[in-house]
Amino acid sequence: MSDNLSQLPDSSQETQKRMRTLLLRNAYVATMDGHQREIPEGGLFIRGGLIEKVGPNHELPPSADEVLDLKGHIILPGLVNTHHHFYQTLTRAVPAAQDANLFNWLTTLYPIWARMRPEDIFISTQTALSELALSGCTTASDHLYLFPNGARLDDEIHAALEVGLRLQASRGSMSLGQSQGGLPPDSVVDSEDAILKDSQRLIETYHQAGPGAMTQVVLAPCSPFSVTGELMKQSAKLAREYGVHLHTHLAETEDEEQFCLQKFGHRPVDYMQEVGWVGGDVWFAHAVWVNEEEIQTFARHECGVAHCPTSNMRLASGIAPVKAYRAAGVKVGLGVDGSASNDGSHLLAEVRQAMLLSRVQEGITGYSLSNDPNRKLMTAREALWLGTRGGAAVVGRNDIGSLEPGKCADFFAINLNRLDYAGGMVHDPVSTVVFCQPVRVDYTVVGGEFIVKEGRLVSVDEDKIICKHNEAAKRLLAG
Ligand SMILES: [Zn+2]
Repeated sequence: MSDNLSQLPDSSQETQKRMRTLLLRNAYVATMDGHQREIPEGGLFIRGGLIEKVGPNHELPPSADEVLDLKGHIILPGLVNTHHHFYQTLTRAVPAAQDANLFNWLTTLYPIWARMRPEDIFISTQTALSELALSGCTTASDHLYLFPNGARLDDEIHAALEVGLRLQASRGSMSLGQSQGGLPPDSVVDSEDAILKDSQRLIETYHQAGPGAMTQVVLAPCSPFSVTGELMKQSAKLAREYGVHLHTHLAETEDEEQFCLQKFGHRPVDYMQEVGWVGGDVWFAHAVWVNEEEIQTFARHECGVAHCPTSNMRLASGIAPVKAYRAAGVKVGLGVDGSASNDGSHLLAEVRQAMLLSRVQEGITGYSLSNDPNRKLMTAREALWLGTRGGAAVVGRNDIGSLEPGKCADFFAINLNRLDYAGGMVHDPVSTVVFCQPVRVDYTVVGGEFIVKEGRLVSVDEDKIICKHNEAAKRLLAG
């Protein structure tokens, strides 16, 4: 921003911003539109944060307020992260939780998380969103379900606004402590009345309903084993009064299935139907342990799934039936999941993991012995589709996920001329960014604003974030 512009009154600055144009040309563009159009030498023309034109160089306007020659780069729609717990960046690779299954991992980490303060939520949000931005993500859903020592979802929302990525802020909750037969210690659960009041306050304060929203609020009781059925029902009622989405963990592990059968007398998906948690406004994280009938239930009710392949491998949870979901017409997006079970926030890496894990599943179900020519492996483009269009559909947004006129100018670009891609980029640039080792991106743009430019974060100071984050992580572990 020029000095002149920064001295203008706010309303004029806003008007300038609304009208500002940006032209990108000479790139390989993968639009992820309905025809999966790819343009070998082209770009985007952006006005006021929206895409006005996508096409080959000769179809683009000749000038703009800012022009970027992206020769040798690939441009892709911004990735949409459908599941995360930003605060867990503070407890990556904690030795006691490195080699545990979900329930043991949780019970090891709950007491550490219970020490978090508001400033820890703030710094961990900036760490996770910075990592995500550097991996091509432009919209991130986060699921925050612990609010110890005065921490609030507001801390996360304010931190995200500084970074500049779009945020689907999920107001999580836990109300079923150990004394009530739940998994979390009583010290990290809240009363249901307080949870619902705070949920309503957050929706009324922050939720933006229309296209181009930077902040949306989602109601997200943590999981069947940490809240009561009554809170699930009341949360759904409140969400539907305001038209916000619903999100929770579901069918992540086999022991969760057993917990639900014993405690509620239902399998997890049946239990969701029992408490009114099915519909196009609901998406579930993981959904690994489901049967064919339950896949059809998701399809019939238009529920979405956040597939988190790295986390499912890390915690030995299992393999989600993504191919069956897709065949049934279930919406599937990708999530890195919390950083204590990944332990990174690299969404392009998750695209690659989704493709590879799907192939592992093919392998163990007889792919090499099959003579069926219709049995196909997940392709790089399909995996990218999950990370873009799939994710946008799962979080209920049709203003993002592809590069088309009228959509938000959310995209990322990578310089293909690098050692990591040598050889591949001359054959197939789109597949190369998925098949080859994931890299840091060179540009990430949200609503026409640069979040990453020439490989560096624009809105926040990376070195300061690392320093503050390490201090906070050390303090939490010290107790
Ligand atoms: Zn999770």
